[in-house]
Amino acid sequence: MELLEERIKKDGVVLPGDVLKVNSFLNHQIDPQLMMTLGQEFARLFKDAGVTRVLTAEASGIAPGIMAAYCLGVPMVFARKKKPSTVTDAVYTAEVFSYTKQVTNTISVEAKFLDANDRILVIDDFLANGEAAKGLISLAEQAGAEVVGVGVVVEKAFQGGHDWLVNHGYHLEALASIKEFADGQVIFN
Ligand code: 5GP
Repeated sequence: MELLEERIKKDGVVLPGDVLKVNSFLNHQIDPQLMMTLGQEFARLFKDAGVTRVLTAEASGIAPGIMAAYCLGVPMVFARKKKPSTVTDAVYTAEVFSYTKQVTNTISVEAKFLDANDRILVIDDFLANGEAAKGLISLAEQAGAEVVGVGVVVEKAFQGGHDWLVNHGYHLEALASIKEFADGQVIFN
């Protein structure tokens, strides 16, 4: 998506460790108009997938996830990174190693919010090594649901997540695909 690539070039900052900081429009301050445009694009890309629910992870997946769900006319559920004390019902859980924080979180979703008949679209802000996507896929599969797509706002295609998802047969769509970082600049595919 050219609009997104332009925004990344204008506002993105390449940090050491191949991390792209985009907290002026996606990860801290959020640009709602841009998020709606991204949601419309996800809805267009997955319109034939029969999506019944969007699944994402807190916190940064929620903004693109809610817009994608709105445009597809389906509910969105986000996996939590800490189990709230109010949750006493059955939950599905998965371990996710965080690329940016270098810690392992147990993500969880209450079982009642995923159904065996669901056709799940997994949405996240970034795809790096694929740990978050694998965790979300695991939650959906524990429910007996089918993952019909994985949509990410930005993928770093040179890390392992892209190849893993494609090699395992998942329909992956990235709205911006980064080939590499060179001298602090973002090079897109
Ligand atoms: P993965 O699980 O695919 O290794 O990493 C994806 C998760 O780590 C995303 O949910 C995102 O929060 C975070 N992440 C990975 N790489 C980046 C990056 O370059 N920039 C930002 N802002 N987040 C990233």
